[in-house]
Amino acid sequence: MKKTCPIIATERSYVVEKEKFEPISKYYGEDTFNINVMKIKIPGDTYSKIIDAIHEGTILDIETANIVAHAMKEWALEKGATHFAHWFQPMTGITAEKHDAFVDVTGVGSVMERFSGKQLVQGEPDASSFPSGGIRATFEARGYTAWDMSSPAFIRRNGISTTLCIPTAFFSYTGEALDKKTPLLRSNRVVSKSALNILKLLGNEDVKGVYATLGPEQEYFLIDADYFYKRPDLVLGGRAVVGAPPAKGQELEDQYFGSIRERISSYMHDMEEELFKLGVPAKTRHNEVAPSQFELAPVFEEANLAVDHNQIVMDTMQSVAKKHKLACLLHEKPFAGINGSGKHLNWSMSDNKGDNLLNPGKTPHDNIQFLVFLIATIRAVYKHADILRASAGSYANDHRLGANEAPPAIISVFLGDQLTKILADIESGKVTEATDSEIINLGISSLPVVSKDSTDRNRTSPFAFTGNKFEFRAVGSAQSISFPATVLNTIVAESLDYLAEKIKDACGKNTSINQCVLAVIKKELKEIKPVLFNGDNYTAAWEKEAVRRGLPNNKTTPVALKVLVAKKALDLFEKYRVLSNVELKSRYLIHIEKYIKDLEIEAKCLNNICLSKVIPAATTYQKGLAKAIAGTREALGKSVDFTAQQELLKRVVELVNKIYAANKDVLAGIEKAAAIHDEQKKAEMLCSKVKTKMNELREYVDELEGLVDDELWPLPKFWEMLFIS
Ligand code: ADP
Ligand code: MG
Repeated sequence: MKKTCPIIATERSYVVEKEKFEPISKYYGEDTFNINVMKIKIPGDTYSKIIDAIHEGTILDIETANIVAHAMKEWALEKGATHFAHWFQPMTGITAEKHDAFVDVTGVGSVMERFSGKQLVQGEPDASSFPSGGIRATFEARGYTAWDMSSPAFIRRNGISTTLCIPTAFFSYTGEALDKKTPLLRSNRVVSKSALNILKLLGNEDVKGVYATLGPEQEYFLIDADYFYKRPDLVLGGRAVVGAPPAKGQELEDQYFGSIRERISSYMHDMEEELFKLGVPAKTRHNEVAPSQFELAPVFEEANLAVDHNQIVMDTMQSVAKKHKLACLLHEKPFAGINGSGKHLNWSMSDNKGDNLLNPGKTPHDNIQFLVFLIATIRAVYKHADILRASAGSYANDHRLGANEAPPAIISVFLGDQLTKILADIESGKVTEATDSEIINLGISSLPVVSKDSTDRNRTSPFAFTGNKFEFRAVGSAQSISFPATVLNTIVAESLDYLAEKIKDACGKNTSINQCVLAVIKKELKEIKPVLFNGDNYTAAWEKEAVRRGLPNNKTTPVALKVLVAKKALDLFEKYRVLSNVELKSRYLIHIEKYIKDLEIEAKCLNNICLSKVIPAATTYQKGLAKAIAGTREALGKSVDFTAQQELLKRVVELVNKIYAANKDVLAGIEKAAAIHDEQKKAEMLCSKVKTKMNELREYVDELEGLVDDELWPLPKFWEMLFIS
């Protein structure tokens, strides 16, 4: 039966037809070559080898790889694929792929579908087209991709083309990581090892493995594609560089709780169907605070899979939007004056039995374990708040962080009243002598119920404990979550190791492990508690207080990024072999260059919009106004009062002059920056001088927007884009 999405009576409605509607469970994961498919398609002994290789992280022998490659190819051909691609995450951009047809020439005029183990396991894309941050000289531009068996290969359809995508890591000829996946995988191993070590110390011998878990809540805007294509700033940079906020923004708070509009619902249905086919657990959808803003929250997964899936989510959101004649904006702050988009990165750790290590338990022993992981995370954030801040830094995210809608650049930890009280009791010595049963009496065991409700309310905190996980809220909506997760894993691993040493030192013969742990926590809390803050992070008072407490407040990305190349970060990542000094420095350089490029693109867009759209429109309006005044005067004589038109005309001319002059200053600033060869200094100069000028320029344009005849204004306005769909 053909179902048709009902048409809404506006010219912008868009009809989507669907052939069939099936329960999600019928098609979930059908476009992935996951372990269930492998089990059916691959002989038993080979299948076991693969499972072992996935778990142990070992390399497949070539015979096994050949068998898997053959099965994968047959499966992909059944799905209509003609090509395969090693899919990877370069240091900038969403994802990259180079497609190769599944064919081998077998003779003159004949080919045959073939895919070897070698082609599956390793690829060689032209690495010179991807940024390396100075790692590779161009003469050794070779880069390799290696199959990541822990993330299933999947089918991607694009128009009539169908490709088998193989998740891979990307590295240079000399072995340096050129992507975002490699350091993440390394950090996963590191945190897993440190967690396992401390679990054993606490007497938890059953656990065989630990893995980090991630659940990224993805925010996004949807606007009609017609409007999108009329705005060069949105097309080129993802953000409206000019435009006045609409008369109605989010003040009425009717968007969040309102029902999802029909056209949007259809889009979400279609987009999620794609995601479900790709095995992405796209669980929750809802409207967000701002008009035309929405959120998708998946069920959390193992970190590597969650990162790949978030990349797929961002890709799919954008490609399905095109089909629906919508544009999906992932930018952190597309519309000034309207809430921006972030990505709440929920993070925790699970053991191999599926037990969440940040879940307060029912027994005193579980609670001691919980406290250790809780304190380790708090300590990690205290010690490395600056690195965490840097991991969320980008030109776009600077428009959002600290703008009293998203967390400030000061990274503090929110625990909620109950946990705060428990820690205070431990610190004050109330529970040092506690017997096991007294720990229960403190109420730790009832935490999940109580704190889950009470914690989630503080939306202003950048790093909040929400009952059984931490939520890092500073991450930008367009960013990859890979680096923030890599940082979290690494800094927590370091603190787990630190605590393990302290607990070992504290353990005498006659004290129980619980008492040792409490003694260590008591001592550590004194140092790390300045990072704990339950209050309103948006206030000026907190900013002052944070300075007093010695917490870093790196407000802009150029300042924030610098910490990546300071000794503390270089040593940490090198020590844990997550990123060598060369690798970390290259990432710093790429981020700082990206900052510069993003700013320059906006400046050029602004220039273009001012000179070729705004000023011509203003001039036309001005001409009309001048003609009207002159014509009326001629018809009615000098005695008529022209005050209003004259004032308007004067202001329009003034604004045009101001726009022209400010634009010139912006361009001069860009030119001046081009002469600065130190990228850090260049970024700082652009940030402090040029960005400020761009903001000033915008104010003139936005004022003009309110004066010039609506019919003449050359750009879709915010109210149109945000309220018409
Ligand atoms: P909210 O933050 O809106 O209260 P939830 O508590 O349902 O919503 O969780 C939000 C996100 O956190 C979801 O994507 C969810 O999968 C994720 N999440 C829940 N538990 C964990 C966990 N143990 N590790 C990582 N992410 C988690
Ligand atoms: Mg949340």
